[in-house]
Amino acid sequence: MPHRPAAIVSAMHEELRALLPLLDDRHTVRLAGRDFHHGMIHGQPVVLALSGIGKVAAATTAVLLMHAYDARQLVFTGVAGGLADGVEVGDVVIARQLLQHDMDASPLFPRFEVPLTGRSHFDTDTALADALAAAAQRCSGARVHEGLIVSGDRFVASAADSQALRTLLPAALAVEMEGAAVAQACADFGRPFAVVRTISDRADDEAHIDFARFIEEVASAATRTIIEEWLTAGAHSAHASSPLR
Ligand code: SAH
Repeated sequence: MPHRPAAIVSAMHEELRALLPLLDDRHTVRLAGRDFHHGMIHGQPVVLALSGIGKVAAATTAVLLMHAYDARQLVFTGVAGGLADGVEVGDVVIARQLLQHDMDASPLFPRFEVPLTGRSHFDTDTALADALAAAAQRCSGARVHEGLIVSGDRFVASAADSQALRTLLPAALAVEMEGAAVAQACADFGRPFAVVRTISDRADDEAHIDFARFIEEVASAATRTIIEEWLTAGAHSAHASSPLR
């Protein structure tokens, strides 16, 4: 009986491409305009997918991975803009909670609350986030932050926008465009998930320049380093967060 795969998802090819050569027994299935690459990495069954950018694309992909491919857990990985003081380009952020910063059905519901769920914050799986944080600590040499990541359908690229977000959501470490959508979809399915991001920019007036350079030169290697370390540790561990179990 084959094990159910761990899903590893990024928005953009530049974030995931370094993992593709690690796939043994690779076969690719195309569904809903996306390629799902199945195979084994270090003896562990995985499916790698590109979601595309933004919350709808990310949620669509997450649902396909859980429903069509029965992924046992999802890890979303890629880059993000740093928001909190001290969250700098090259640092790693592990989400413990996610929130949609552009969700606002007030005054019907409190700002940021997903209507009719009673929730604005969605937790990541503790064991999975612990394992990814440990992998990032062991291998990357980068500073690792853990806490709130906020998501919305907006590339935050000005000091004014960044400051506005920081004022509204002082706990937010980083901003990106997919994580909280995956969080909501995984919560509906009761499926464990985690988000690990490398900071590509500071979501400020230089964000578009820093982002472009980072995505071209660093993002893919950063993803590979952490994810490979996590999968390798999983292969040698019976821990509940192991990708195998
Ligand atoms: N047109 C751009 C699109 C980049 S969107 C391009 O292809 O060059 C930015 C992507 O990186 C999203 O997937 C988002 O999750 C993440 N990201 C990095 N920095 C961000 C920021 N400052 N604001 C929002 N998302 C950011």
